[in-house]
Amino acid sequence: MARKKLSAVLFDIDDTLFSTSEFAALARRNAVEAMIRVGVRLPAEDLMKELLETISEFSTNYEHHFDKLLCRIPPQVYAGVNPAIIVAAGVVAYHDTKFRQLAPFNDVAEVLGALAGTALVRGIITSGMMTKQAEKLIRLNLYQYLSPQAIFISDQIGIAKPNPKLYLRACDDLRLSPGEVLYVGDNPLHDIDPANQVGMITVLNRRSGKYRDVEGRTRPAYEIANFFDLKKILRDKFGIKVA
Ligand SMILES: [Mg+2]
Repeated sequence: MARKKLSAVLFDIDDTLFSTSEFAALARRNAVEAMIRVGVRLPAEDLMKELLETISEFSTNYEHHFDKLLCRIPPQVYAGVNPAIIVAAGVVAYHDTKFRQLAPFNDVAEVLGALAGTALVRGIITSGMMTKQAEKLIRLNLYQYLSPQAIFISDQIGIAKPNPKLYLRACDDLRLSPGEVLYVGDNPLHDIDPANQVGMITVLNRRSGKYRDVEGRTRPAYEIANFFDLKKILRDKFGIKVA
C-alpha cells in the first residue's frame, strides 16, 4: 500500500504537550497553602473551593483571581493581615510552582527532539492568550524543536477553536494541503472535529486531562496514549524515519 505523504505535524499545547490539569491543580494548591501560611484562617479545602469557583466565574485567563478570592471570604478570617500580602503570597506560590515544576510529559521532549531531525514541519495550533501560550513553549523547553514559522496562537490570529478556519489558516500559511498535515490534540470537540472537517489527519492524545472521556462528533484517524505511539504511527503509516 502506498504511504500517504506527510509534510507537517502540528500540536495542541494544553494536556497534549504537558499535563495542564495536573499542573494547575498543584499550583492552586500551593497558592492556597501560602495564603493560609501568611494568615488566612480557613481550612485549605474551603479556600480551594472558593478559588475554583472564582476561576470558573472569571475564566482561567483572568489576571486577578487571588484579589477576587479575598473579596469573597469574610474579612474577619484575615483580620490583622494586610490583604496585599495575602494576595502576593498566593501569586508568588503559583509562579514558583510554574518555575520549578512546569515540564512536558516524559516522552514528549524525546519524540519532538527526534522529529526535529526529520524534514517534517513541526508546529503548534493553540487556543489561548498569546503571551501565556508562548511562555509555555519556552518554559517547557520545547520551542527549540519547533519550526519557527509554524506557531499558530488563536489570540494572534483572531480565530479561536473550535472554528475550523483556524486550522485551515495554519495550513494555508504553511502552504500545505490539510491532507498532508497531521494534528495532535486531546479535545475531541475542539481539536479533532474541526481538524477532521478541514481534511487534516487527526490524532487524539488520550492520556489525561479533562476531555479524556468526551466523545466527539467524528473519529480521529489515530489514537495515542503517549508520543512513542505517535512515533510508531509516523514510521509505520507515513514512512517517516524518526531516530
Ligand atoms: Mg488541549
